[in-house]
Amino acid sequence: MNPLRSLILAAAGSDTVRRVVTGAPATRGVVDRFIAGETVTDALAVVTRLAEDGLYVTLDHLGEHTEDVQQAEEAVQACLGLLDRLHSEGLSVRAEVSLKLSAIGLGLDEKLALDNAYRVCAAAEQCATTVTLDMEEYDSVDATLRVHAELRRTWPWVGAVLQSYLKRTEADAVALAQPDSRVRLCKGAYAAGAGVAHPGGHEVDLSYVRAANTLLAGDGYPMFATHDPRLIPLLRERVHWYGRKQGTYEYQMLYGVRPDEQRRLAAEGETVRVYVPFGRNSYGYLMRRLAERPANLAFFLRSLASR
Ligand code: FAD
Repeated sequence: MNPLRSLILAAAGSDTVRRVVTGAPATRGVVDRFIAGETVTDALAVVTRLAEDGLYVTLDHLGEHTEDVQQAEEAVQACLGLLDRLHSEGLSVRAEVSLKLSAIGLGLDEKLALDNAYRVCAAAEQCATTVTLDMEEYDSVDATLRVHAELRRTWPWVGAVLQSYLKRTEADAVALAQPDSRVRLCKGAYAAGAGVAHPGGHEVDLSYVRAANTLLAGDGYPMFATHDPRLIPLLRERVHWYGRKQGTYEYQMLYGVRPDEQRRLAAEGETVRVYVPFGRNSYGYLMRRLAERPANLAFFLRSLASR
């Protein structure tokens, strides 16, 4: 992993860094670029705007690593409230929900997270939409895939995420390329040790393409989450090679990243889904965006210096 990226992800755990970043006026600019706002109303306004451009959305109510059962319950209630509004405002055809299991109790008890995820998926079914389980740190991958497998017994449409920086991902892609599966493939946004992760960007890209091939060769619905200007044309070529028709796979990008490319692909008939985070707990999400791209960090530091 790029040393600057490792440094930022490691620093993200420090309370001092958290105080500086969350207290800095410069944070506002980064927040506005990557986050839809604090409330469900803010998020739904963004869904409506993106839908006008032919884009689909997956909504993330920000929050992760809850420390007690009450916090986990609040996260579940936030998801249920979101689903309710999506449905009542006729937006559930355009938007689904991304769920972090650590927000609904995975760090406390796997059974609690499973029960909570059941409640969210049951509500999503009522609202005629879907749920995708975000993938988080390496030590939660097995538990997340176990919860995913359990949920899929009732709802085959529950989505999983694979991170191509992990060496295990090719095997996981084979296991998940099943009929009706929905699998988001991304590079991975967390710090992961050399033993379990590919050492550099090139290996991560190669692993991405191998997993993409596996998913495209299978019977599921692959969701290619990347902004990489080299990978996207390659994926389009692979899609063609496997004889996949538009609508049997999709591209996904983050809110605020390459919006012109999102619209360009949609205008060419591709299904493009934008990951839209909203809420107050933006710190972890923002630190991962800063770590991904030195230019984002420079943008943040420049605004800090100009105050
Ligand atoms: P990179 O090689 O990182 O970037 C390629 C190019 O994309 C860059 O040169 C730049 O032009 C642009 N770009 C990339 N990131 C940014 C940025 N932050 N700001 C501005 N420009 C940027 N990771 C997980 O670990 N778990 C998940 O569940 C997860 N879900 C995701 C869902 C979606 C829809 C997306 C798009 C990403 C998700 N990620 C997740 C993050 C992902 O793993 C990567 O960290 C992130 O997408 C950057 O990788 P990249 O493929 O865009 O390629």
